[in-house]
Amino acid sequence: MHAPPTNHDWHNWASNVSARPAEVFAPRSEDELADRLAREPRTRVRVAGSGHSFTPLCATTGLLVRLDALQGVIAIDAATRAAEVWAGTPLHALGEPLWAAGLSLENLGDIDRQTLAGAISTGTHGTGITLGSLSTQVIGLTLVTADGERIQSGDGDGSPLPTAAAALSLGALGVVTRVRLRLVPAYRLHERMWKVPFHRCLAELDERFGGHRHFEVFWFPEKDLAAMKALDVTERDEDPGLRYDGARFEGERLGPAHRVLPSARERRFVEMEYAVPAAAGAACFAELRRVMRERHPSMRWPIELRRVAADDLWLSPAHRCSVATLSVHQGRGLPYRRFFADAEAVCRAHGGRPHWGKLHSLRAADLAPLYPRLTDFSAVRRRLDPAGRFLNPHLRALLVPPASRGRTRTVSGRA
Ligand SMILES: Cc1cc2nc3c(=O)[nH]c(=O)nc-3n(C[C@H](O)[C@H](O)[C@H](O)COP(=O)(O)OP(=O)(O)OC[C@H]3O[C@@H](n4cnc5c(N)ncnc54)[C@H](O)[C@@H]3O)c2cc1C
Repeated sequence: MHAPPTNHDWHNWASNVSARPAEVFAPRSEDELADRLAREPRTRVRVAGSGHSFTPLCATTGLLVRLDALQGVIAIDAATRAAEVWAGTPLHALGEPLWAAGLSLENLGDIDRQTLAGAISTGTHGTGITLGSLSTQVIGLTLVTADGERIQSGDGDGSPLPTAAAALSLGALGVVTRVRLRLVPAYRLHERMWKVPFHRCLAELDERFGGHRHFEVFWFPEKDLAAMKALDVTERDEDPGLRYDGARFEGERLGPAHRVLPSARERRFVEMEYAVPAAAGAACFAELRRVMRERHPSMRWPIELRRVAADDLWLSPAHRCSVATLSVHQGRGLPYRRFFADAEAVCRAHGGRPHWGKLHSLRAADLAPLYPRLTDFSAVRRRLDPAGRFLNPHLRALLVPPASRGRTRTVSGRA
């Protein structure tokens, strides 16, 4: 018999992950958070943002920290184009205050419902061959560690918390409380969407990705049509005469970047995404289409193709490699495992690295050859959290190779 639900049962956006934490803790200040972590050295901890990850990164039966009270812009420096922001701030709450100061985020992903800390912690990205993930917009951050110490990330591998590790850390190093962001001068975008047959889309890919600030494709299996979406900087004012239908992937619109980049995603789904070297993107896209048509003809959700610039972040799927990202989806509650397994095999055969927040089946032994700085990341993690308080079973499987599991000092209590 199942235990009755408690008032702090937690589930993610897609409802494919649920958890029953012993307690949900929403500290009112950094001090309150630091005191609590220092006072309870045996409690296991996870932090949740807005729960938009499809993997069980936030699941815990211990203490689930939420930064609902640590939101908002702390300071904006228009001269250096930087801002310090509370880590629990939802991305959609950032656009207007930055715009008022003449600044914008360099890029955004498909939606803006995530928290800032949650988005950077899995390497959330949009699209554009010159544009890195949101984690690459981080110039520094403040972290409260397992023993309640407050530390700032710093440049260089010699720092106890290198920003290259902290800016994409899966919530495995501690609780990020403040994030310092690199910004760009405020800009307006002109978005256009149109549909073409798949083979025409494939022939135009290089030209399109090279010719627009942002470009992406959604291929729909039912009609074998590719919806192309391009966004470019414009000085034009909003034009009420333009026709735009986001649900049909048609039309055009204009506006400040933070209003145009995000879409509304009303229908719930699950998703898997891999980043493959950019040069392999078109071949991987075509192969995924073939596998979907031949082996999974009942699938209706699109394959999404985007581009992300290379970076130096230790756990980034774009680590030292400009990538094409390929996502597959399935409606909530519908069967997806066989299709995702086949799609994963295709992406892995093209040298893919998984998105940490989206479904995948990889474990530490698979990840080690893909992420050359994984060992360095694990060394930082062990230094900051020697008892593994921030590890849940999912993170342990990702970050602790089977051979060293017996050697990890563990805390007792709930996992
Ligand atoms: C509809 C939809 C659209 C999406 N679109 C995109 C997209 O365009 N591009 C893309 O790359 N991804 C996309 N994603 C994935 C999503 O951006 C990531 O999974 C992101 O991490 C979710 O942010 P969140 O605030 O919901 O964090 P959560 O999912 O709640 O948490 C994610 C990770 O962040 C950690 N974390 C959260 N807060 C903190 C903190 N304060 N300190 C330390 N660690 C913390 C958590 O422990 C966890 O490891 C999408 C997901 C959905 C459901």
